Amino acid sequence: MSFSFEVVKDIPGQLGRAGVIATPHGQIATPAFIPVGTKASVRSLAPEAISDLGAQALLANAYHLYLQPGPETLDQAGGLGKFMNWSKPTFTDSGGFQVMSLGAGFKKVIDMSLGSLDSDEAMAESKERLAHVDDAGVTFKSHLDGAMHRFTPEISMKVQHQIGADIIFAFDELTTLHNTRKYQEQSLERTRLWAIRCLDEHKRLTELRSDKPYQALFGVLQGAQYEDLRRKAAKDLSTMSSSGISFDGFGIGGALDKASLGQIVSWMSSELPTNKPRHLLGIGEPADLFAGVENGADTFDCVAPSREARTSAVYSQNGRFNVSSATYKRDFSPLDKDCKCYTCSNFTRAYLNHLFRAKEMLASTLATIHNLAFTVRLVDRMHQAILDANFLEYKNDFLAKYQTRILD
Ligand SMILES: [Zn+2]
Repeated sequence: MSFSFEVVKDIPGQLGRAGVIATPHGQIATPAFIPVGTKASVRSLAPEAISDLGAQALLANAYHLYLQPGPETLDQAGGLGKFMNWSKPTFTDSGGFQVMSLGAGFKKVIDMSLGSLDSDEAMAESKERLAHVDDAGVTFKSHLDGAMHRFTPEISMKVQHQIGADIIFAFDELTTLHNTRKYQEQSLERTRLWAIRCLDEHKRLTELRSDKPYQALFGVLQGAQYEDLRRKAAKDLSTMSSSGISFDGFGIGGALDKASLGQIVSWMSSELPTNKPRHLLGIGEPADLFAGVENGADTFDCVAPSREARTSAVYSQNGRFNVSSATYKRDFSPLDKDCKCYTCSNFTRAYLNHLFRAKEMLASTLATIHNLAFTVRLVDRMHQAILDANFLEYKNDFLAKYQTRILD
């Protein structure tokens, strides 16, 4: 087996730590931000640019690659990394999030805020449900062509083995903050039973495909905003063993109320073993990254930096701003004066303003390079700050300057 995790240094008095994950395709110094290449591509960037901006690994989506081009193609190509010419470590998520979020039309309720809907029934009635969850798996309609498909824990494992990422995730049921407590309990039990099936199938496939690089399997912890459920999920999955194997690490998933994100991560981190890595799924805002790291999360992924870049929302140490705004038409300074990325080293706000207004494709490329470089570096600096024993000073200095609203 060529997968390991080592804690190098802790944040004194906190659950956070700096460490190193080793995979068959190289190491990841943690904490680390992992850019998302949904369909084996970070939109508008060549892999060389992703590597140059400092990314240590990439995360792709099993659901999207299952539908297009199909996992058999990636398997035949020699796996995700070879297929897209990316030599560093890779992750895939299980497909559960996309199957249920795209399929069930949950998009509006996964916004991490508690709104007016407050029951499973209201959610089901509010939209046509395109995904149906039962104890064996999920039946869903493709968002591409409307064809019906079915994902089960076994199918998710098979698809992720064919895609061949270094780190893969167990198939879990996604709930939202709007589901009832009773539903959360039922769902958590379903996810626990699915986790056992994932371990069994992962073990079988690992033996069957023993000529392939080792893939580490992370269990996914749900439980929404409930402390007892979150702790139970962490205890259940960290002590779980089936077919003689246990999880190599853990994904913290599901509905997370942003206001209590740090607390939710701390509940689970305090139940989890310290010698296995923890990935916080779908989190990328600076304040959330600091809260995640401080409370024991090691890696993060999020589509926000690249998605926002394509809408001209770019990051700076003072916060996000819209570079296509008239304010920047003749601003010949870089996007962020302290950023050393390719974009900030070579181009001005005025040039990006022009590219966005002229609808040039290069606008997305340059803005995406910067936003990803900014986010990757932010978390890399947390790693360094933990080693230097000044994480809290770094966090307080950064957040004192950074505005979460979009500046003009
Ligand atoms: Zn930059």
